[in-house]
Amino acid sequence: MQVGKGAGGHRDAGAPQAEGRAPAGREAKGGHVAGAGSTTGEVTPHGEGIEWDYAPAPESREIVTLAPEYGLFLNGEFVPAASGQLFATVNPATEEPLARVAEAGAEDVDRAVAAARAAYEQVWGPMPGAERAKYLYRIARILQERSREFAVLESLDNGKPIKETRDVDVPLAAAHFFYHAGWADKLEHAGFGSSPRPIGVAGQVIPWNFPLLMAAWKLAPALAAGNTCVLKPAETTPLTALLLAEVCQQAGLPPGVVNVLTGAGGTGAALVAHPRVDKVAFTGSTEVGKLIRRTVAGSPKRLTLELGGKAANVVFDDAPVEAAVEGIVNGIFFNQGHVCCAGSRLLVQESVADAVTARLRDRLGTLRLGDPLDKNTDIGAINSRQQLDKIRELSDAGEAEGAERWSPPCELPQRGFWFPPTVFTGVSQSHRIAREEIFGPVLSVLTFRTPEEAVTKANNTPYGLSAGVWTDKGSRILWLAQRLRAGVVWANTYNRFDPASPFGGYQESGFGREGGRHGLAAYLDV
Ligand code: NDP
Repeated sequence: MQVGKGAGGHRDAGAPQAEGRAPAGREAKGGHVAGAGSTTGEVTPHGEGIEWDYAPAPESREIVTLAPEYGLFLNGEFVPAASGQLFATVNPATEEPLARVAEAGAEDVDRAVAAARAAYEQVWGPMPGAERAKYLYRIARILQERSREFAVLESLDNGKPIKETRDVDVPLAAAHFFYHAGWADKLEHAGFGSSPRPIGVAGQVIPWNFPLLMAAWKLAPALAAGNTCVLKPAETTPLTALLLAEVCQQAGLPPGVVNVLTGAGGTGAALVAHPRVDKVAFTGSTEVGKLIRRTVAGSPKRLTLELGGKAANVVFDDAPVEAAVEGIVNGIFFNQGHVCCAGSRLLVQESVADAVTARLRDRLGTLRLGDPLDKNTDIGAINSRQQLDKIRELSDAGEAEGAERWSPPCELPQRGFWFPPTVFTGVSQSHRIAREEIFGPVLSVLTFRTPEEAVTKANNTPYGLSAGVWTDKGSRILWLAQRLRAGVVWANTYNRFDPASPFGGYQESGFGREGGRHGLAAYLDV
């Protein structure tokens, strides 16, 4: 992506190749167009006139050894699917096939649940918490030791930038295992009664936006509490879950305690419907969450759902603009906006709206889009063609409904799935882009005049997962946080995660919490 200060932007995005072009004579390979600095003229003693471009800084992919085919992780071993079926997983940045992965069917689900049940009854359930903790600590440490391998593999399979997988996904996944290892022998003292019991076999279905991290969010608390697990990763991102299964083997985890079934929606549906699953935990779309709720209704299964969001990031006129703009960028462009708690609706006080959006445009002009393995990359690839189509469709609807669309000039790579960072101004609350989860790098800007109006607009959504507030006044933060219907409210920051902090939503964002003591409760019979 090139810097586009004052260039007015472009209105991509129907085609993979955006309108923006690199200035003549400047290299524009793979989306890596020159960075900041003037492009012509004499060099002054202060360095003006020099092109301060980033050199490519690709992380080597040598550390990852990809097998041509992967089996299911069932009862401690990698085995083919009963049907012998395989599906391909591709690198979304290049469309290059990475590997073929076993597709689990009903028979495999049955075998995995039986293995998990036997491990629960014979080994993991009866095991003292202090012993369970040792395995969790081991998994956490191995994750740290193999962190580069995980980071590169996640970037390859998901398309997210290496600096995010390296600095966010992998360290946070390890932190979840460390944190929950600490709980395993202290459950009797956690306020759940004198002898809290695990629930049994957990069927866990996760999405593609944080494949390793969501696996850690699901497995770590379940295992700490004494449950055994059957995990179903998303079809487009199975590889780090399978590497995590290898780590479980390496840590000597008893067979059957963790099982990983790769497959598509049908595999997930068979898992949640299985009669011997005691607890279902799902993260993904609200639509599938509702289906699962219907499946589980009337059964004794316990259920937690972490679903979509349309969070408001509220900026008051007394907020420090630079910090707020960083928070806005982090809120919606982190992980290509594939974030359930993304700050996808910017609510900015009318008196500062022009100043904030002008500064935001400048900042977007400095973001670098391209090769996810390049350490300078800020915005990677969209995870799949299907998701790219959805982002395009909703962005086109935003334009058709009358909002004004803007993206910085940028060159998109020829191959792969790409979408430029996009800002819509003049958005009204009835527009689809203000109501529906786009799950991409698209920000909708709305304005407000009074704090009361900010609350009304922020809460005008069927979701209720997260929100952000930017202001100089502590009292205003507390006032607003009490009135926002959101599971998490970040104040003068955004997208902060900690395993000790419960995360989850209201309304169509689901129910139940993950993380902290509240998250443990979801895996205990309390
Ligand atoms: P889904 O909700 O379909 O996928 C989440 C997980 O559920 C995947 O593992 C999926 O399998 C599985 N699954 C699909 N159908 C069923 C079913 N009937 N029963 C059980 N499990 C099932 O999300 P998509 O990937 O289709 O994304 C669609 C939209 O959902 C996105 O555009 C985004 O708006 C939203 N989304 C929200 C997320 C969030 O965290 N809030 C996460 C992901 C998506 P598989 O992928 O293999 O088909």
